[in-house]
Amino acid sequence: MKVLVVNAGSSSIKYQVFDMTDESVLAKGLVDRVGIPGTTLEHKPAGKDEVVIKRDLPDHTEGMKLVLDVLVNPEYGCIKSMDEIGAVGHRVVHGGEDFSASVVIDDNVKKVIKDCFDIAPLHNPPNLMGIEACQALMPNVPHVAVFDTAFHQTMEPANFLYALPYEVYEKHKVRRYGFHGTSHFYVSQRAAEMLGKPYEECKIITLHMGNGASMAAIKNGKVVDTSMGFTPLEGLVMGTRSGDIDPAIVFFLMEKLGLSAQEANNYFNKKSGMLGLSGVSNDLRDILEAASSGNERAQIALEVYYNRVKGYIGKYVAKLNGCDCLVFTAGVGENGYDVREKVCEDLDYLGIKMDVEKNKVRGKEVDVAAEDSKVRIFVIPTNEELVIARDTYNLAK
Ligand code: AMP
Repeated sequence: MKVLVVNAGSSSIKYQVFDMTDESVLAKGLVDRVGIPGTTLEHKPAGKDEVVIKRDLPDHTEGMKLVLDVLVNPEYGCIKSMDEIGAVGHRVVHGGEDFSASVVIDDNVKKVIKDCFDIAPLHNPPNLMGIEACQALMPNVPHVAVFDTAFHQTMEPANFLYALPYEVYEKHKVRRYGFHGTSHFYVSQRAAEMLGKPYEECKIITLHMGNGASMAAIKNGKVVDTSMGFTPLEGLVMGTRSGDIDPAIVFFLMEKLGLSAQEANNYFNKKSGMLGLSGVSNDLRDILEAASSGNERAQIALEVYYNRVKGYIGKYVAKLNGCDCLVFTAGVGENGYDVREKVCEDLDYLGIKMDVEKNKVRGKEVDVAAEDSKVRIFVIPTNEELVIARDTYNLAK
């Protein structure tokens, strides 16, 4: 069976086509600037040259139509007809408390995705647009939703509840959900394989460090705790998100800077984090470069960043009462070896010792721990699309 994986954002559609007989990727691509002048589709068929198509497209339905045209194109497509696609897997950010696993999409699933608009206003609406556009064009195949929140649903109330009046959990579902679940799941499973231990017997700390960043503590295959919370704003310092702060700062700055609730939300999500702190960029590569040329704000921003990650490692080792391995993944985790080195510095008390020379790799699956490190340190490139394709295939079979 061939599976189409779709990740629809507010103005973009990412896609991949998998042949599930060997899990190979037949083609992948991105439609960018959907609904904005200058829409571009970049299509990469396996073993062929990349194709770029520029054509203004008003909405996700037109965007998906173009994707489907490209997939069956005799010159650069990867299938002869759409009949070859047996199922479509959709990335959906928020499944609330209703879904702890992937599901075949029906009206009830769409209702739950809609009910979560309130708590995931930037992600769930475009995710649903992507689903509806695909369903309209491919009404006869199963469509599967794979949720970013699902893997974290094993958390116990002791870890997912905030110390707020209990009614806000009961009435408004204010609690920790966690995100990047598909990535934490993929890399933790791979880590167990690399450890040579059953997944159900491992204590794993995963570090998904990209522009958005989160960590998870996973015990015996279940998430115990994760750093993102009610929204992706909590936890680590990110490209433009503050991560953990004293919540009183929000009210203080709303008053001082005259911000509305929406403006404050934007301030902490889009103007803070490494961008706000360094004043250089949200991209860690730029900040590392600025720091090495002597930019003091960039240097201090990096220290805050490393410090936060180290704090979470300590917290999660405590929560797991031990740790078999740390796993670094996503843009920074896979490529930024200098960042990995700083994060693992002076953690030998916890049994974490890096081989600094081995660590000088980018984007490869490798163990970079020193021989005598009690805790293994893995770099594992994430593959969320493969998890979506596998879940979709298994549910569609
Ligand atoms: P992601 O969100 O997973 O696509 O990760 C994107 C981020 O990875 C970018 O914002 C960069 O900051 C970061 N990144 C990519 N390559 C490197 C690198 N060599 N060193 C540090 N950070 C990197």
